[in-house]
Amino acid sequence: MPATPSHPGTSRTRSWWGWGYADAHPDNAECAAMGALLPGTLARPLPIPRVADLAIARPGATPPPALAHLITADPATRAAHAMGKAYRDVIRALRGRPGRIPDLVAHPTTHQEVADLLDWAGGHGVAVIPFGGGSSVVGGVEYRGDAHRAVLSLDLTSMNRVLEIDATSRSARIQAGALGPVLEEQLRPHGLTLRHFPQSFEFSTLGGWLATRAGGHYATVHTHIDDFVQSLHVVTPAGASTSWRLPASGAGPSPDRLFLGSEGALGIITEAWMRLQERPRYKASTSVTFADFHQALDAVRAIAQSDLAPANCRLLDPGEALLSGASHDGSAVLVLGFESATAPVDDRLTSALDLARAHGGRSGAPTADRDTPADTAVRAWRSAFLRMPYLRDGLARMGAVVETFETAATWDTLPALIDAVRTQVGAAALKATGHHQLPSDPRLPRRRRPLLHRGRRRLPRRRSRNLGRHQSRRGRRPAPPPRHHHPPPRRRPRPPPRLRPPTPGALRAGTARRQGRPGPPPHPQPGSPGRLTGPQRLPTAVHARARSVVAWARNSSSARVW
Ligand SMILES: Cc1cc2nc3c(=O)[nH]c(=O)nc-3n(C[C@H](O)[C@H](O)[C@H](O)COP(=O)(O)OP(=O)(O)OC[C@H]3O[C@@H](n4cnc5c(N)ncnc54)[C@H](O)[C@@H]3O)c2cc1C
Repeated sequence: MPATPSHPGTSRTRSWWGWGYADAHPDNAECAAMGALLPGTLARPLPIPRVADLAIARPGATPPPALAHLITADPATRAAHAMGKAYRDVIRALRGRPGRIPDLVAHPTTHQEVADLLDWAGGHGVAVIPFGGGSSVVGGVEYRGDAHRAVLSLDLTSMNRVLEIDATSRSARIQAGALGPVLEEQLRPHGLTLRHFPQSFEFSTLGGWLATRAGGHYATVHTHIDDFVQSLHVVTPAGASTSWRLPASGAGPSPDRLFLGSEGALGIITEAWMRLQERPRYKASTSVTFADFHQALDAVRAIAQSDLAPANCRLLDPGEALLSGASHDGSAVLVLGFESATAPVDDRLTSALDLARAHGGRSGAPTADRDTPADTAVRAWRSAFLRMPYLRDGLARMGAVVETFETAATWDTLPALIDAVRTQVGAAALKATGHHQLPSDPRLPRRRRPLLHRGRRRLPRRRSRNLGRHQSRRGRRPAPPPRHHHPPPRRRPRPPPRLRPPTPGALRAGTARRQGRPGPPPHPQPGSPGRLTGPQRLPTAVHARARSVVAWARNSSSARVW
């Protein structure tokens, strides 16, 4: 049974191990075709993992009769609640090692039921983990301790209604388990929208957004969910907490801020009053190409620091632009979009284009959007963006490392940070896998470049492969003759290459050169931008144990302005 039923409002089944709907995953042929575009991937995809193959222990606790109707011990449901949806989770599932599987899964429908479940669990040594859409990428829905006799995953998705709308104040009381589309569908008849669009929108919930302080896309001004909160209702093991519903308050620390971003550690958010917006009536978008990525960064800064407030201001570096089909000639692409419920946005778009052109950007005439963007590059990026999580899982089945990671930096440190990320991810990829080929690599054969924007049928048939040692040994198929640009299969792993990332001083010097400034002092300063330390230290996209895979760091250098 590869999937678990549970998507409110549809009959489609969710994948228990990967992203989204089970029927939307790339099939074996598509995975193989994608794999052929990258060096060092497997000859054929790893099989889709089956719940039946997992060693699922009997539940370590029995729910009391009064709560039994809310709780299930169904193996597929339990497996689907064991992990989030980071790349590492997908790999663990593909290896049949999802970690601790919850003993029970509960689907409460009221505050009281949540409180009753917490009471019972607290008295019986049962750990409770709140679960919204399960799209966590930081292990937030996993149990990692050993002090409890059982684990209960508390799935909020049955609490998914918009309970009340205050049209005058333009806000709504919404249950925390509402998935993005479910919530928006209920606001639509009122001409209102929460307008919070994380990439995981379709499969994540209001409660999850609040508990993780999610950031939305198409949201350069109102980026974080925190900005929309008026009040929260939270059920904690010590009782319920409801904050006073106020548009703003300067009286002491905000109680809501305590729960926002708490990852469910302090209690279960069951509902929230959220500030809404009118649905936009006027929309316009366009793309701008830049031959020089750092000039593009300057253009983005100029737009962000103006009062134009674009809804979308996203810079794709040449690699991401290539992959999404937004450009084919190695240029960086800036995707710009403006929206308003009350006034046409063409003037704002024109002013933003003027700023972009003043920094070397090239663009056609801006176009008004109806339902979908009129600009081809914007459309290509958007469809790649929505499809990406499914393709990530397909590439994971082919042994590729594909992960997104985020960081934040002030404008003055950004160029050096980007250079450092590129260099260090490349070095780490080479060290861990023996391959270093980012999608923007000019050495990448042309036919391998455009990937994400291709539709199902347009993916090429697999024409070549580069088998790793482990595949040949398993006897799946004989190793092919070595290709000149790939390392041949070998008996022993190659010793790590002697490749060092540039020193912080060199990075700062490079940045200074580009900006026409004199170079920095020769010795690194503490906390200097070229050095990834402290909060700027990046989680690596490359798993040290990965062998014979190509490391591919998507988004390593795309900039999003909030
Ligand atoms: C492909 C992909 C794209 C993503 N894009 C974005 C993005 O654009 N922006 C972004 O910010 N994040 C993004 N994420 C991360 C993730 O989607 C967000 O963190 C999201 O807010 C999680 O919501 P969820 O409902 O899935 O929560 P879950 O994953 O179920 O839970 C997340 C955490 O919140 C806790 N929790 C869940 N519900 C409640 C509740 N009601 N009360 C208390 N605690 C609760 C859980 O215990 C867990 O610690 C992405 C993830 C993936 C896999």
